[in-house]
Amino acid sequence: MEQLGFLTWALPVVFTSLSVYIHLAAEGVSKRQMDQLDSLTDGHLCVAIGEVGLDYTTTCICRPCRNPSRCKEEARRNQEEAFINLLLLARRKSLPVIIHCRDCGDGSAAKRTLELILHHNLADMTFYRHCFEGTIEELTAWQQLLTIIFGVSGKFIRNNTGLSNS
Ligand SMILES: [Zn+2]
Ligand SMILES: [Zn+2]
Repeated sequence: MEQLGFLTWALPVVFTSLSVYIHLAAEGVSKRQMDQLDSLTDGHLCVAIGEVGLDYTTTCICRPCRNPSRCKEEARRNQEEAFINLLLLARRKSLPVIIHCRDCGDGSAAKRTLELILHHNLADMTFYRHCFEGTIEELTAWQQLLTIIFGVSGKFIRNNTGLSNS
């Protein structure tokens, strides 16, 4: 994080979006890291918080892993806690958030991400859902957020328009 602070200071025309990398958030985010992020978002041309969200493809760092289901559960709990704290930081700073959701294709990460936003009454924030490749149903569900912009993937366009790469 210190390097990032230096980079944005040295190159004042670079706008940044700051967050904790989602795969690292799976290992837990300390109060100190959140405080660092909090101060980095002041005066460094930080224009958004993100990427934030849930990624169910995260793997644990233990080698060998003796309890994959426990590690998975812990990673999800840590990611959820980090996600909420980062949303609250964004709200405090009046910044939009860039949302990342990834799973094995069943839409479960996006479903849980939306549930958390609604459960914590944060639906009135400004969201950018990047690299969206879910279903039309998922798109519709997310449109209940008051301000949301979708960046769609090529896969989404192919699946929903019949257009191919060629
Ligand atoms: Zn493990
Ligand atoms: Zn992403």
